[in-house]
Amino acid sequence: MASAAQQPELSERAHRYSAAVWVSATSLFAILMGLAVLVGWQFRISFLKNPLPMAHSSFMTPNAALCFILLGLSLWVQRKRIRGRLLWWFSKGCAAFVLLFGTLTVLEYAFGIDIGIDRIFFRHRLSDWTLAPPVGRYALITAVAFTLLGMALLLLDRPKQRLSEFFPLTVAFIAFVNILGYLYGARFLYAIGSTNNIAIHTASVFLALSIGLLLSRPDAGIASILVSDDVDGTLARRFLAAILILLPGLGWLRLQSERHSIIEPALGTALLVCISVVIFVTLTANSARLLRSENQRRQTAEQELRKSERQFRELAERLRQATDLVGLSPYTWDPQSGALQWDPGVKAMWGLPPDAVVNHEMFLAGIHPGDRAYVEERIARSLAPAGDGAYEAEYRVNRADGVQHWVSACGRTTFADGKPVIHLGVVLDITDRKRIEEEVRKNRDRLEMFIRYAPASLAMLDREMRYVRCSTRWLQDTGLGERDVLGKCHYDMFPLLPAHWKEAHRRGLAGETLRDEEEWVAADGKQHMIRWEIHPWGDSGVESGGIIIFMEDITERKRAEAKLKAEQDRLAGIISSAMDAIISVDENQRITVFNRAAEEIFRCPASRAIGRPLDDFIPARFRGAHREHISRFGNTGVTTRTMYRPGTLYGLRADGEEFPIEASISQVEIDEKKLFTVILRDITERKRAEEQRKQAEAALVNSEKLAAMGRLAATIAHEINNPLEAVTNALYLMGSDLALSTHSRHHLTMAERELMRVAHLTKKTLGFYRETTTPGKVSIPSLVEEVIEVYAPRFLRQGIKLNKCMPKQLSVTTVAGEIRQVISNVVANAIDAMPNGGTLHLRVGSCSARDGSVHIVIGDTGVGIEPALRHKIFDPLFTTKGKLGTGLGLWVTREILTRQAGTIRVRSRVKKGTVFTICLSDSAPGKKDPASLDRLHGIATSSSGG
Ligand code: ADP
Ligand code: MG
Repeated sequence: MASAAQQPELSERAHRYSAAVWVSATSLFAILMGLAVLVGWQFRISFLKNPLPMAHSSFMTPNAALCFILLGLSLWVQRKRIRGRLLWWFSKGCAAFVLLFGTLTVLEYAFGIDIGIDRIFFRHRLSDWTLAPPVGRYALITAVAFTLLGMALLLLDRPKQRLSEFFPLTVAFIAFVNILGYLYGARFLYAIGSTNNIAIHTASVFLALSIGLLLSRPDAGIASILVSDDVDGTLARRFLAAILILLPGLGWLRLQSERHSIIEPALGTALLVCISVVIFVTLTANSARLLRSENQRRQTAEQELRKSERQFRELAERLRQATDLVGLSPYTWDPQSGALQWDPGVKAMWGLPPDAVVNHEMFLAGIHPGDRAYVEERIARSLAPAGDGAYEAEYRVNRADGVQHWVSACGRTTFADGKPVIHLGVVLDITDRKRIEEEVRKNRDRLEMFIRYAPASLAMLDREMRYVRCSTRWLQDTGLGERDVLGKCHYDMFPLLPAHWKEAHRRGLAGETLRDEEEWVAADGKQHMIRWEIHPWGDSGVESGGIIIFMEDITERKRAEAKLKAEQDRLAGIISSAMDAIISVDENQRITVFNRAAEEIFRCPASRAIGRPLDDFIPARFRGAHREHISRFGNTGVTTRTMYRPGTLYGLRADGEEFPIEASISQVEIDEKKLFTVILRDITERKRAEEQRKQAEAALVNSEKLAAMGRLAATIAHEINNPLEAVTNALYLMGSDLALSTHSRHHLTMAERELMRVAHLTKKTLGFYRETTTPGKVSIPSLVEEVIEVYAPRFLRQGIKLNKCMPKQLSVTTVAGEIRQVISNVVANAIDAMPNGGTLHLRVGSCSARDGSVHIVIGDTGVGIEPALRHKIFDPLFTTKGKLGTGLGLWVTREILTRQAGTIRVRSRVKKGTVFTICLSDSAPGKKDPASLDRLHGIATSSSGG
């Protein structure tokens, strides 16, 4: 398409170029021919003056040669549009001279006069003149031709194009006829009733010059057709060539053939006609085809045109709709006449009806008074011829109904001859845009205020890390103070910024959001803990517009957090290491805290307890009351109180065992929710201990009573001893009286015997007391024997065999009565354990030869002791014998042994038997520190087991 469109243009350019070549060539031809002829005249070269040496042929006169040179020069200069004034004068002068010469010559012929112009040049050479006078004058037809050509060149580029075309055409015709005359030897044609006819080269130059003249202006007239690339040009060129070259050629051939009798005249004419017919038919057919294809092309082009016109109309309509849509309304204004034409849209903006007639005053009146001067100034600038005529303005319009609008106008003034002739433009209602702009501006201002006065360190930076906004706090915190940082680069402000911050900025710019906490030395040199965040900003989506840096000094907060953490850890430590169970419940009585003591007491790990209702740890029968109690307590507002009276509260272990507790409860209110914390203690042990203490106290009271009675008995016995001695002495003295009757002597002997019994009783009483209180050397085998003797009847009754292994003598310093009781207690228990008989093993031996301690082993083959009960048998009041037992035997035993620095150990297997091993240390003075032994043995005893 593009090449097809350019093709004609290219070939037309080629045609124009060849036309220009023609013009230059013809003018040069004229000049050279003129010069050649002059040379011929000067040097009498007749060939140059008249190249055809045939009859009736003529010279070219010197005047004609000169005229040709002048015409050639004029055409040469005028072949292009003349630039310089001097050249113009020169070319026109040449033409005018030729015109003058031609006209004068014509006048000479017309009036039969000789004004001598024919012999101005080359007068002396004109003596060669062989032709009929007048000497040196060129032919009349030549004069006419010169007049016409001179006129044509003078008038070239004048508006009368037709005329300047008519002259050369006429000359060309004359020259053509002349040349034909010469060619065919038809004298009539080149010497029309005259003696001095046109020379052959004169005719040639005329033909050349007139063609050159015709082609010199290819923009108009015949030349424009000839250079045209259209069908008219093509046809014209073809026909002209055919007519002007082929026809004369054929005619000449026909003439020659006839002259030289090659072909007879009839055949020659027939051939001529035939060839002419062929040529013209071919030409016609060709032309017709060309015209038809041209026609088709035109039809297609017309269709195309119609199509594009339709498209154009549609486009125009769409454009109109589009302008309507965006609210663009056109207007025109003639600044000269003041005529103003507004589209209805513009009128609507001014609040005018669509049919209103408007003028410039109405236009100005509608503009807001504040903007009027500005608009007028803009218009004036657009009308100034010095400018480019552009007009652009945004202003307010007060509509007739009082509503204010913002409009944007844009137009252009067209100038002609330095004067504004028309101003075209469009107006757009931009009220909405302005409102949005205003809104945006307000928002921006608000944002700016928000950032500036934000109570945080905030900075907004662009992609080059230049400040866009920053808060006052930022300036303070970074030590920038009052400096104006907007637009300045952050890195210029802080050249020593750590590399990792720069890296963070880079990542922020790449679209990442980063945050961290770190230590930072501020401008004041103090160590701070800061939290920072980097966010990308901007809405382009692909690349961020920059970053926002947020910095917060969290030094204080961190400190407070650390303190709180320490506080919490401390509290957690206290709670977990507390001896008492600590349980917290929320408002719904669900457990939230369950410490280690609680885990132990309730035998339930905290992981299982937390989240469960507190009820699970309270025996079912107390649950209702307990809940009521807690809710009542919640309503009192008292923070702490002891729950119930002591001894009335019970807990429930995970394994279902109930146990007495002592508890206090406290409450706090957090976020309008009440939290209760119960601190409780398992008092099972304490209760039992209290019970034991009571019984032990009773036992102690009893033993104290016994001891007191013992002391009393000893005192009495001692007191009785003195009078008893006196009575014994008195009775002895009475016995020595020989005068005593037999009867009296018998009574005296009886009194002495009874007195001896009393003395024995007091002595025994005193001895027993001493034995139970005073340490002495005690033979352990004898002591064991004594105890066995006491229980001998029970051995027999229950069928118990005895297995003894004791040395004869093994003493230890101790309180005999107490050790007897110890042995007696253990042996009694062994007998109780073998109701259906068995063997009682008794061993006595020394523990260690060095310290003189002695052990007594008492074993039985009885029922044995359950392992679970083994640690309880030494507890006071613990018995498995019900009413028959007191549970005090072993307890007293241990108490005694502890006092005597002895120990007792037990080994037992259920249903196999039990072995008690008693170890007695020698408490002779200087041997041992009994207190320390005491402690040692105490521990050994309690840890002993079977
Ligand atoms: P009591 O004899 O009055 O029951 P003790 O203090 O003497 O009180 O003994 C406590 C308990 O120790 C006994 O009830 C018994 O269950 C257990 N016990 C003591 N010695 C033996 C033993 N040799 N064999 C089996 N059980 C024994
Ligand atoms: Mg007992």
